[in-house]
Amino acid sequence: MEKVQFQAESKRLLEMMINSIYSQREVFLRELISNSSDAIDKIYYKALTDDSLTFNQEDYYIKVVPDKESRTLKIIDTGIGMTKEELENNLGIIAKSGSLAFKKENELRDGHDIIGQFGVGFYAAFMVADVVTVVSKALNSEQAYKWESEGADGYIIVPADKESVGTEITLKLKENTEDESYDEYLEEYRLKQIIKKYSDFIRYPIKMDVTSS
Ligand code: ADP
Ligand code: MG
Repeated sequence: MEKVQFQAESKRLLEMMINSIYSQREVFLRELISNSSDAIDKIYYKALTDDSLTFNQEDYYIKVVPDKESRTLKIIDTGIGMTKEELENNLGIIAKSGSLAFKKENELRDGHDIIGQFGVGFYAAFMVADVVTVVSKALNSEQAYKWESEGADGYIIVPADKESVGTEITLKLKENTEDESYDEYLEEYRLKQIIKKYSDFIRYPIKMDVTSS
């Protein structure tokens, strides 16, 4: 299977993400939760105009699942999901907010400022993860797909198994180094703290499943 290369500007933003300073890293969770919330908004508005769809409040939520054993953090949503083409177009190249941050690059001194001031989007995941896997099933699609990337060297998209509509993102957290630890993103109290700080206004429930401790 051939790896698809990111476009040049996506590559540069990725590099900034990967090299960003420690204290800003926690915003990755804000970005992923906000994408999940947007995806639920989309299915909600579809249900308003589509009689074949009913929107049951309790079926729509975001779930954060840390797993210390596998050193992964999952962000799961029951939003509208993405088709293969959408995975390709939305995650393979820089989306709106990412482009905005990128354009402003010249006016700002470094990646730190960009991350602080703008919604940097999906790529923020690479601040804490060295592998990002997105499994998604779009509304009205039969087949689910998996998008996976280890960062700057591109991504793959392959068919995947997923029963329900929505998106599941798995972050394989980076290994700790002498100076930096990523273990905090596996701690329930720390995740709750970050969610409270940045995602308190999200209209859908944010649940947490702790699979091992
Ligand atoms: P933005 O949110 O500003 O558009 P992002 O980089 O955060 O930029 O996300 C890029 C795009 O990827 C989104 O616009 C959306 O189309 C898609 N996307 C990301 N996460 C999800 C998700 N959880 N469910 C559905 N689509 C998503
Ligand atoms: Mg976003």
